[in-house]
Amino acid sequence: MLVLLSEALSPVDQCGCGDTGYLTTRTLPIALNHGAGKVINAPVYSCSSSMCEEYTIPSAVASRLDEIADEMEAKELLSMQFSWKPTSDGEASDHQDSLAQGFIWRFHRRSYEDAQVLLVINGDTILLQSKLDPTEYYTLKRLEDSKEGIQFSFSKFFEDDEELTYEKFIELEPSFQKELGILKMEELEDMLLEEFGEIID
Ligand SMILES: [Zn+2]
Repeated sequence: MLVLLSEALSPVDQCGCGDTGYLTTRTLPIALNHGAGKVINAPVYSCSSSMCEEYTIPSAVASRLDEIADEMEAKELLSMQFSWKPTSDGEASDHQDSLAQGFIWRFHRRSYEDAQVLLVINGDTILLQSKLDPTEYYTLKRLEDSKEGIQFSFSKFFEDDEELTYEKFIELEPSFQKELGILKMEELEDMLLEEFGEIID
């Protein structure tokens, strides 16, 4: 059996509905000889539509789920956390990195009541522009991974140029922005809704 465990999962692939899917984790139902079980935090691709219930399981994850099912049956468990085997540091961090990038790409072209996502840069930075004052910009930049998990620095800056491009943005001085806070990945969606209002299609 060929199982490419060392192959990093791509941050972006296809959702079960056919739209672009972003790597995320969810609890998957799993049929076991001794009952209906579940695997928690399994990596899957899903699109950014809140209406869509579809997803795609990456093939490396599907292979691993078979092994997890065997293990759950052997131990008579109904619930288990997803993990790779063997768990080496490299694999764990590849997976972590792709998860963070999949999460970030999900914001591509998103628009809120009071702000819009202008750019997603290198899979690690999100640039937003205020709709109320177009000289007001915000960035979410992924920080080095720590014990806290995946974290982002949320900053604000003002720029007279109301049509910032990638080229213009990277030339701005590094000290120009004011950090508003540091957030965990899990807190980011809620914070943006609170700060900028509902998502507009
Ligand atoms: Zn979908």
